[in-house]
Amino acid sequence: MTKQTHAFQAEVKQILHLVTHSLYSNKEIFLRELVSNASDACDKLRFEALDNAALYEDAPNLEVRVTFDVAAKTLTIRDNGVGMSAEEAASHLGTIAKSGTREFMARLEGEQKKDANLIGQFGVGFYSGFIVADRITVETRRAGLPPEQGVRWSSEGTGEYELETITRAERGTDVILHLRDDEADEFLKTWRLKSIVGKYSDHISLPILMRKEQWDAEKSQQVLTDEWETVNKAAALWARPKSEVTDAQYQEFYKQISYDSEPPLAYTHNRVEGRSEYTQLLYIPAKAPFDLWNRDKRGGVKLYVKRVFIMDDAEALMPVYLRFVKGVIDSADLPLNVSRELLQESRDVKAIREGCTKRVLGMLESLADSESADDKTKYQTFWNEFGAVLKEGIGEDHANRDRLAKLYRFASTHADEGVSFADYVQRMKEGQDTIYVITADSLAAAKASPQLEIFRKKGIEVLLLVDRVDEWMLSHLYEFEGHALQSVAKGAVDLGKLQDEEEKKQAEATAEAFKPTLERLKAALKDRAKDVRTTTRLVDSPACIVVEDGDMSAHLARLLKQAGQGAPSTQPILEVNAEHALVRRLAGDDARFDDLAHILFDQALLAEGGQLDDPAAYVQRVTRLLSA
Ligand code: ADP
Repeated sequence: MTKQTHAFQAEVKQILHLVTHSLYSNKEIFLRELVSNASDACDKLRFEALDNAALYEDAPNLEVRVTFDVAAKTLTIRDNGVGMSAEEAASHLGTIAKSGTREFMARLEGEQKKDANLIGQFGVGFYSGFIVADRITVETRRAGLPPEQGVRWSSEGTGEYELETITRAERGTDVILHLRDDEADEFLKTWRLKSIVGKYSDHISLPILMRKEQWDAEKSQQVLTDEWETVNKAAALWARPKSEVTDAQYQEFYKQISYDSEPPLAYTHNRVEGRSEYTQLLYIPAKAPFDLWNRDKRGGVKLYVKRVFIMDDAEALMPVYLRFVKGVIDSADLPLNVSRELLQESRDVKAIREGCTKRVLGMLESLADSESADDKTKYQTFWNEFGAVLKEGIGEDHANRDRLAKLYRFASTHADEGVSFADYVQRMKEGQDTIYVITADSLAAAKASPQLEIFRKKGIEVLLLVDRVDEWMLSHLYEFEGHALQSVAKGAVDLGKLQDEEEKKQAEATAEAFKPTLERLKAALKDRAKDVRTTTRLVDSPACIVVEDGDMSAHLARLLKQAGQGAPSTQPILEVNAEHALVRRLAGDDARFDDLAHILFDQALLAEGGQLDDPAAYVQRVTRLLSA
C-alpha cells in the first residue's frame, strides 16, 4: 500500500481539537496513557499466545522501552506486544469505538482546570500524545504477520492521518512523538521521564526500560550509554505485601484503573486462602460514573490469573448491585484460558464473588458504623452516589439481605437524610411495632402527602421513600428485625395500640352519623372509586386516595406508565375525613352534592401527585361552585 490520506471520524476531530487547545494541567499524563497502551498490547499478545505460541516469534520477553532524541526532538514509546495490522491501525487510531465522547466533551467544558487526567476515563488515551506533540508517527506490525506487512500511521492531529505499508522486522509498536518546541525542553530529559514513569507506571508488571545515563567528566554533563535499566518496580502492586505498599501508591493505582480524579472512599487488599486462592484489591469510588445506570455496563473489576491479565470488566466476579466497585482479582486456581462463559459457571468464581461481596459489605459497614465523623460523612457521600444501586441488592442477594438492610439510609418525617432502619426502630413509640413508609416521586411530594397527617399529629416517624427503585425494594423487603414494613398509603390505617380509646369511640360515632352521606358518595363515585370510607388518618385534608393492600401503589402504577409499560388499572379507594368542614357540607347540600363529590375525589388524586383523566370536567365543576 502506498501512502494514503484518510480523514478522521468526526468525533476524533472534536477530541483532537479539545486535546490540543484545552488541556493545560497535568500534561505529563500522556506518558502514562501511552505506556498503559503499550502494556495492554503486551497483555493481549500474552493472552493470544496461550493458544498460539508461535506469536512470540522467539522473543517471549515482553517489555516497553522509552527513548528520546534531543536533536530530533522525538520521544519514542516502543513495545513488543501484539501490534496492529493496517485495518486495525485505521480503525483503532482513526475512530472511537466507545460511546461517551459527548459526556467527555461536556465534562471538559464545565471543568475549570481542563485537567488532562480526564482523557483516560473515556478510552481515548492515545490522542493525549497530541497534548505535547505536533506530529505522531506510529510504526507497527501485528504479531504473526510477515515483516512486509508493517504499517506506518502518521498525523499532525488535525483533520487527517496518513497510512502506508512498511517493512518492519520486530513485532509490536513504536509510538514516536515529535514534540512541540515549547514542550521539548521539559520532556527530553532522563530524570523527568523516569519520575513520570515512577509516579504513574510503577505498578505495571512489565519492565519499562530506559538507557542508562553516565557522568561525562570531559563534557561535564550526563550522557546516555548503550546500557538499559528497568525504571519501574515491574511488580504488580496487588502482588506485593500490604506492608510494602504506601497509601499514596494505593491511591495512585486506583487513579490508573478507574480514571477517577477523586480519591476512593475506601479500599481493601487481601490474600485469601481456602477453597479458592486469590488476591483481591477492591476500591469504593467517591463519585458515580456517568454511565452507572447503563444496563449493559459491566463491572469495574479486572481479572488476572497468576499475574497474567485475562480480562477487564469481569462481571462474574461481583454481583450486579456492586457494579461500582473497582479493582483487581488475581486468582491462583483458574485456568489461563478461561472465557466469560466459563466464568459464569465456575465454582471457584462463585467462591470469589461471595468473598468479594463480603469484603465490600464489610468496608461499607465499617464506614457506616464508625465513630469518626469523617467516616460517617464518607458513608453519606457513598449513599448519595450509590445508595439506589445498593438497594437493588435486596432482591438479588438473599444471603446478605440482613446486612444490606442495615446499610440502607432514608429520609423520614424526622430527618431529611441518613435514617437507618435501626435509627427508626430506636425511635418507635411505645406500643408501635410497625415501620411506616410512604413512596412518592419527590421528597416534597412525600412530605405533602395527606396520609402523613395523623402520623405527624401523633409524632410517629414515617420513612419517605423517593427513589425510583424504592417501590421495587419494598416488593422484596417486608420487615426489619421482626418489624413489618407498612405503606401508609395502602390499606386501612390501623394505628393499633397507638390510638387511644377516647379517640376510637369518637371516630366510631362520627362514622356512624356519616353513614347516609357515605352511601350517597359511593353512588356518586361508583365509576371511579372501588370504595368510599371514613378514615382517621386525615387531620387537615378532607380526603385522600389509598389502594388496597394487595394492589399496586398509585406511585408504582405511574412509574410503569412513564416507562411505557402497561399497569393494571385498579380503582382506588377514597377515604374521607368526616370531621372536615368541606365533607360536613356535603350532607346538607343536595343541589351541589354531585359536583362536591367529584371535586373531593379529583383533589385527593391531585394531592398525591396523580393526573386527572378529565381535567376539563374538573375545571367546569369548580367554576360552577365558585360562581354559584
Ligand atoms: P483505549 O486504550 O482506551 O482503547 P486509546 O485511544 O488509548 O483507547 O487506544 C485506542 C486503541 O488503539 C486501543 O484500544 C488499541 O487497540 C490500539 N492501540 C493503542 N496503542 C497501541 C499499542 N501500543 N499497540 C497495539 N495497539 C494499540
